[in-house]
Amino acid sequence: MTSNQPYFDLAILGGECLTLDKSFAEYRDSLILTGNGRIEYIGDRKDFIGPYYAGKTIHAQGKIIMPAFFNAHTHLSLSLYRGLGTDLHLQDWLTKVIWPLEKQFCNPENVYLGSCLSVLEMIKSGTATLADMNFFSGHAAKAIEESGLRGFIGEALFSTSTPSIRDPLDGFNVSAALLEKYKGHPTIHPYLVLHAPFTCSADLYREAGLLGKKWGVKVCSHVSETRNEFEQIRSRYGKTPVAWLEETGVLDSDFIAIHMVHASDEDIEILAERNVGIIHNPHSNMLLGSGISPVNKMIDKGIRVGLGTDSASSNNSLSMLTELQTAARLHKVEALDPSVLAARHALQMATSINADIYGLAGITGSLAEGYSADLLIINPDSPNMVPVYDHYSQIVYSMENRNIESLIVNGKVVMEDRKILTLDEEMILREVEKWTKSVSVYDFIRI
Ligand SMILES: [Zn+2]
Repeated sequence: MTSNQPYFDLAILGGECLTLDKSFAEYRDSLILTGNGRIEYIGDRKDFIGPYYAGKTIHAQGKIIMPAFFNAHTHLSLSLYRGLGTDLHLQDWLTKVIWPLEKQFCNPENVYLGSCLSVLEMIKSGTATLADMNFFSGHAAKAIEESGLRGFIGEALFSTSTPSIRDPLDGFNVSAALLEKYKGHPTIHPYLVLHAPFTCSADLYREAGLLGKKWGVKVCSHVSETRNEFEQIRSRYGKTPVAWLEETGVLDSDFIAIHMVHASDEDIEILAERNVGIIHNPHSNMLLGSGISPVNKMIDKGIRVGLGTDSASSNNSLSMLTELQTAARLHKVEALDPSVLAARHALQMATSINADIYGLAGITGSLAEGYSADLLIINPDSPNMVPVYDHYSQIVYSMENRNIESLIVNGKVVMEDRKILTLDEEMILREVEKWTKSVSVYDFIRI
């Protein structure tokens, strides 16, 4: 190294790079150089002038490089209950399985353990950024921080007590404490999380909207997940969940509505007018029999619709790859039109659209100079990927998680050649098995 050679923390040399930027720029023989977590150079290798020195070099010839995924809605700790309460409607699944289990087992240690398990799965399926809704969410944050991923962390607030908050009036204090603890943190972003219109009062939404503005954070909630919820709110308040929320003043571009499976045409008009971000969770909606979200209609109205997995106990996977693959197929069959939710759009839902909804446009979701180095290295050299004519089609309709070879988040190599470098995968799996054997989960399920 000579003094006039520029230094970069990481060099990714070769490979076909899909930036997923607005013009879908691609580099056939690319070079990516990073420093302080950011992309400092991205382009064709031949266009980089002069020598450089890199702390680490990854050779990516023959590979595909693209932005890492953004999982815009999940509940990290619920992976401990994966596979329990299968084939139930949401209300039964919640009241007979998940809430009784959480009442019994939800504590800081288990939230941490379940979150560690979830982030392992997310790393192995290429997620760099996630948005969590949890109890004891500071312990989910610990797992996210240790994993090297970027996370939005939110304490789930209800108008009643929860496993972590005895007095609902304390809810915003817990959120404020998280905000204080992670102020200025590069990868952990607290936000305000309300469970749903059927468990939270209008005052809670009103207050959340005001505090969100004061604190400069997003406000998120499940909304209109099931027909039952839609009808329940209509008979309780004489309004649809969206119209009821509109009255609280919470709906705007900083509000994120999870699910939105049941929405009237008037609801969709309100959501478009208020520029609300929607997070679609097709696997969870399918598994719980909740319905098919009117995603095509919302997109046609200019609404930003992103994508998340929801929890591993209602999906039952945390893979954003399979989620986007399902979304792309589901809405074609819904519309009887294969041009709907095209491959490129499905990829944007899982990356740049989610980043925009969460206020991280220009930071993650695409690959460009100045963006955080959040990217995947894909190895297409396997029978399910060869030959590669159209990269976007191949990723959306043929790729499997095992093709995701390496994950880089904020410039740090989190997984290389399928080996997780930040967490002890084997130890976490054995700890989960040990916990599972030490408790009798079936004693607490009411089915
Ligand atoms: Zn959820």
